[in-house]
Amino acid sequence: MLTLCLLALISFSAAEKFSYNGYKVYEVTPKTLAEADLLVNFEDDLNFDFWSEVRTLDTAVDVMVAPIAQESFEDALKSENIEYATLIEDVDEKIQEEDLRQGRSATVETGEVTFTEYMRHNEILAYIDQLAQDYSNIATTEVIGKSFEGRDLTVIRISNGGADNKSIIFIEAAIHAREWIAPPVALYIINQLVENPSYANMYEDIEWVIFPVVNPDGYEYTHTDVRLWRKTRTPATICYGVDANRNFDFQWMVTGASNWQCSETYAGRSAFSEVETQAVRNFFDSHRGRIKLFIDLHSYGNLLMYPWGYTSDPPEDVEELQSLGDKVNDAIHTVRGTNYTVGTARSILYATSGGSRDYAKAFGGIDLSYTIELPAGGDAGFNPDASEIVPVVTEIWEGIKVFYEHVLEKYVNN
Ligand SMILES: [Zn+2]
Repeated sequence: MLTLCLLALISFSAAEKFSYNGYKVYEVTPKTLAEADLLVNFEDDLNFDFWSEVRTLDTAVDVMVAPIAQESFEDALKSENIEYATLIEDVDEKIQEEDLRQGRSATVETGEVTFTEYMRHNEILAYIDQLAQDYSNIATTEVIGKSFEGRDLTVIRISNGGADNKSIIFIEAAIHAREWIAPPVALYIINQLVENPSYANMYEDIEWVIFPVVNPDGYEYTHTDVRLWRKTRTPATICYGVDANRNFDFQWMVTGASNWQCSETYAGRSAFSEVETQAVRNFFDSHRGRIKLFIDLHSYGNLLMYPWGYTSDPPEDVEELQSLGDKVNDAIHTVRGTNYTVGTARSILYATSGGSRDYAKAFGGIDLSYTIELPAGGDAGFNPDASEIVPVVTEIWEGIKVFYEHVLEKYVNN
C-alpha cells in the first residue's frame, strides 16, 4: 500500500511541469552604455532569463527574474537610476491562464495542419509527410539528421522538378525551443506553397527548403516540462543544453555568448558540438552555391536583422540587405500596421556571435541572410495567444512573397 502511494506520488510529481511561481518579468530600459553593461552582466546568472535580447540604448528589455533575486535586482536598478517597470507580476499565473485559454480543444487529425493551436513535433512531421504523399510531384521530405534524443530532423523540399540546380530559399524555425510562434510561420509558408494552387508559380524556378523545428528536443521539452526552455537538451556536467544559435563556427564564442554551461547563451564545448547545428551546416555544404536566401525564424521583438551580429562593421552589400528588408517590412505593414525594425543585428542588438545567420553569410555562401524576430503576444511574451497565430502568419506571408520576388529577379531572371 505504502509502495503504491509512493509510486503514485513519484509519477505525479514527474508529470508536474516546472513552476514559475513568483517569477517576475521586468521591463528595463537602459539609457547609457554603462546601464546596458550592468544589465548584460546578469545574463549568466541562473536566476535571470532574458526574454528579449539586450538592445541598443533606450529600448526596453524584458527580463524574467526568480523570486530569490528580485530584491537585489531592484536595489541595483534603483541605485543606478535605471528605468524599469514590472511587465508580468507572476509568470506561473500567466502560463496557467494561457494554458486554460489555449488548451487544446481537439487533437489535430494525423496529417492535418492547424493554425488555431500550437502543434507538437510529431504532428508537424505527420503534416509534412502527408503533404509529401499527397503532392508527391512537388513535395518531398528529407531527414537531414537526428536530434540528440533521436528525433528526426526533417525538412520539406518544395519544387516542381525541372533543373536540379535551382536556386534555393532555405527557411528554419525553432532553433530556440520556446519560441512557439516560429513553427506555425514555417508551416504556413509550406501550407500556402503546397496547398494553395495560386502560388504554384513560386516553386517553378525556385526550390524551397523549410525546416520547421530545428531543435525538436527542446521544443518538446517546452511542451512537457519547462515552458521557457531555450537550448538543446544535451547534458553537460551540471546543466543541460546548448544555445544552438551560438554554436555555429563563425566567430564562435567571440562575443555575446557564454562558456558557462548553465547560461541561456552557452555556446557549447566546441563549435558545432550539437547534432542539430551540424545538420544545418551539412545541408549548407551539400547545396553550396544554390542557397540564395536564408531566413531564421525567432521570437520576439519585431526585428528584421541581417549580418553582422558580432561587429558593427556593415557587410559589403548592406544597401541591398537594408532595402530588401525595408520592402519586406512595407509588405508586412500593409496587412494590419505591424512594424519591424530593420538593420544589421549589431545595430539593433548587443553583440552576438556563433549564430546561423552570420554563419550562412560568412561560410554558407548565402548573401541574403536574415533573422526575423516575430511579434510577442501582447504582454504575454513567448506565449502569444493561439488566436494570434493566424494574424502573424498571414502578414509574414506577404513579406515572404517580397523575399521571393527579389531572389527571382536577382538570381533567376538575370
Ligand atoms: Zn530566438
